[in-house]
Amino acid sequence: MPLRLALAGNPNSGKTTLFNELTGATARVGNWPGVTIDRKEGAVRGLGEAAVLVDLPGIYSLSPYTPEEVVSRNYLTQEAPDAIINIVDATNLARNLYLTTQLMELDIPVVIALNMSDEVEKKGDTVDSQALSGLLGVPVVAISALRGQGLKALMDATVAAAHAGRHGYNILDTSVLGPAINSVRGSLDAIGYPSAHFHAVKLLENDRLSIADPHLAGCLGTVLEAQQQAQAALPPGDSPESAIAALRYRWIAAYAQSLVIHSRPSMLRTASDAIDKWLTHPLLGIPLFLAFMFCMFHLTFSENLLGLGIPGPGVYLQGLMEVPISWLSGWLGGALAAGGASAWAQGLLIDGVIAGVGAVLSFVPQIMMLFLFLSLLEDSGYMARAAYIMDRALRRFGLSGRAFLPMLMGFGCSVPALLATRTLETEKTRRMTMLMIPYMSCGAKAPIWAIFAAALFPRQADVVVFGIYLLGILTAVVSALLFKRVLYKTAAAPLIIELPPYRLPKLKNSLLLMWQKLREYVVRAGTVILLATMAIWFLSSFTWGLTMVAAGSGQSILATIGNAIRWFFIPLGFASGPDGWKAAVAILTGLLAKEAVVSTLGVLYNPDVVGDALEGGTAQGALLAALAASFSPLAALSYMAFNLLSIPCMAAVAAMRAEMRSPRWTAVTLGVWVGTAWLVSFLIYNVGRLLGF
Ligand code: GDP
Repeated sequence: MPLRLALAGNPNSGKTTLFNELTGATARVGNWPGVTIDRKEGAVRGLGEAAVLVDLPGIYSLSPYTPEEVVSRNYLTQEAPDAIINIVDATNLARNLYLTTQLMELDIPVVIALNMSDEVEKKGDTVDSQALSGLLGVPVVAISALRGQGLKALMDATVAAAHAGRHGYNILDTSVLGPAINSVRGSLDAIGYPSAHFHAVKLLENDRLSIADPHLAGCLGTVLEAQQQAQAALPPGDSPESAIAALRYRWIAAYAQSLVIHSRPSMLRTASDAIDKWLTHPLLGIPLFLAFMFCMFHLTFSENLLGLGIPGPGVYLQGLMEVPISWLSGWLGGALAAGGASAWAQGLLIDGVIAGVGAVLSFVPQIMMLFLFLSLLEDSGYMARAAYIMDRALRRFGLSGRAFLPMLMGFGCSVPALLATRTLETEKTRRMTMLMIPYMSCGAKAPIWAIFAAALFPRQADVVVFGIYLLGILTAVVSALLFKRVLYKTAAAPLIIELPPYRLPKLKNSLLLMWQKLREYVVRAGTVILLATMAIWFLSSFTWGLTMVAAGSGQSILATIGNAIRWFFIPLGFASGPDGWKAAVAILTGLLAKEAVVSTLGVLYNPDVVGDALEGGTAQGALLAALAASFSPLAALSYMAFNLLSIPCMAAVAAMRAEMRSPRWTAVTLGVWVGTAWLVSFLIYNVGRLLGF
């Protein structure tokens, strides 16, 4: 049997670089069983014995919240490799060590590969690997995956560790929770359960996967007692789960700083510092940040690039994308009619699938550009500065800037952002932050902005989309200020954030990330959105008595539902016309997944897609015209605001519920989301009308 070595680390820690360096041409890529996450395996040669390196997905923790975390964790706990190489980005020690503290709890030897040593050196710093090794009780080897330095020493240490068995300390053992953890551990040891320490901690945290394990059913009594024991050791209002996360962070905060030795006098400004003088300037920082964001929206959404009268790259690519979709719907329509397909088959495929999924897919180029820009900003190290600048501004209002990091993640997806609130220190801050996260416009909402901006504000699309993002941030700040008055009166904890050096982003990395996002987006369009679209087509094409009516007709099942709920939206300006029920219904389907708003509008507003496509118009053009005819500009703004601020998708609600751990707070939060959305939309529409727009 060859040695099995697992490579684990945070995203962006250099895992891929190290993996390729170690395995060279021997790597094989496939998918992890059951999920479409890359599974990479390769032989490592020249170790004196056969060894296989398994690259685990990049993760920040071993909690079962993302598919990557589940895959990595299942591999480690179920397949028990002979050793783990934990790759740690030495320029980002604090963040990376969070995962390390969890890996150390498994019954598997761990070796730490302190990567990016070249960069640490370039700054004139040293990371004291010996001290780190002493603190954790495992080998620590400084390497540079990029330059191929230290790899021999790393592999020697790894092979030795694999044979020597597990060593190392568990940082939680000596904490207030130590006794509770040990009592659960004892009962797991008694039944011979592997990685008992790891699972004891997870059980104490009420971890979904560990609790559900049938082998552990007999231990749940002990777990309950230990949880009570832990609760008694903690201050009131704290839970074992948040205390465990906090203990890890506290341990890291206590040591990580002291491990970095700065040998250069701070007088010597590096290039990064010189750039930072401007980008994090007390007065210029925020305007520059806003300017960057605006450039991003301008390039993505403007059809008048720099006032030159030519479309920006986003709009240009978008135009190219319409051609195949229109061609496909035209061709399919012709083929189905010629082939004598039944009316419902034609309806389902053309008015349902093509109109709905096509509407979502037609925005692929613009969404991809947004992702590309965001990943460039992230990769270059600018996003960390943005958090720093915002923290400074928010703290002036007495708000915790720490909350800003999870909120930043909210621009990608609310679900991981909600989970990231675990890093916040108190329950109150956590709850307040969770309340504000959905106000950040997530990736799935972007097609809504794109379609309404293109339909109603073609000349100012960039400004409108920029405005929507700002509206989200502004709503979050205002509601935080209001909540602070009501429930949160303590001083704001400082944000401790490492500002990584600016790096020239590697286009290859960003393109790769964009490609992954693209795949994710298209897969969603082809699965969840496709199914939702078919359901919507069915509900909008049949009456309760199951007689077929024209899609979008007022007699359908969906129309009666829409008509029953539209009263709620009528004061907001978009639900009153003959088509008002459609807008109302799309808000409902958006709860499933936010992309479904656009696919629903695609089905309901666009029964003539094929007609238009056949006559040479584009499918998307027909949809945009239909939207422009039934929404006034003000109603469209109000509609966008409602979708921005209201309840996000079901996945986010489930995550929120689990994290709030209180039915009352869950209900309050849902109420606040709907209430805020309603109020802001109401104000936009009615104040806008008073002002004569
Ligand atoms: P992954 O997301 O963990 O797989 O990380 P990658 O292997 O894609 O690396 C992320 C970035 O860090 C890339 O731009 C790499 O070129 C860079 N990188 C990786 N290892 C090193 C290193 O040892 N030194 C330096 N300076 N950069 C590195």
